[in-house]
Amino acid sequence: MSMTVHRLNPSDRMDGLVFDPRLDSEGRTSVGTYVCPCGARVGFRTSHFIDGWVRGGGARLRPEAAATMDAARRPDPARGEGALDFHCPDCRRPVRILYRAEEFGMAVYTYTVTEILEIPAACPPDSPPGHA
Ligand SMILES: [Zn+2]
Repeated sequence: MSMTVHRLNPSDRMDGLVFDPRLDSEGRTSVGTYVCPCGARVGFRTSHFIDGWVRGGGARLRPEAAATMDAARRPDPARGEGALDFHCPDCRRPVRILYRAEEFGMAVYTYTVTEILEIPAACPPDSPPGHA
C-alpha cells in the first residue's frame, strides 16, 4: 500500500505553536491543541517537547508509517529539529509534528512547531474492506 504524506502549515491544525518553559515557570503554561480532520483533539504542552527532544521523539508510529514519514521529512537534530509522532486516537491516522528547538540557556530550549505531516490514506485496522 502506498501512502501519501500531506505536509501542512502547522497553524492549520494547531492553535498554539510556541512552547516556552519560561512561561511555564511563570504559571502561564504554553499549550497547543492539535485538531485532527476527524475532530479528535490532542493537547500538547512544553513537557511533551522536552521529552521528545531529549529522547528523540519518534518510535510511536507503526514502522511502515514511520518509514513513510522519514522519507517525506526526517527531522535533523543537528539543525535543532525534532518530531513528535503519534497516531490520532480516533481515526488512527499517523501524524508527525515537526518542531525547532532553540537554546536560550544552558540546555534550556524553546520549541516552535514548524510543520505538520499527516498520512490521511492510512485506514483504521478495523475499517470494513472496500470502504473508501
Ligand atoms: Zn483523527
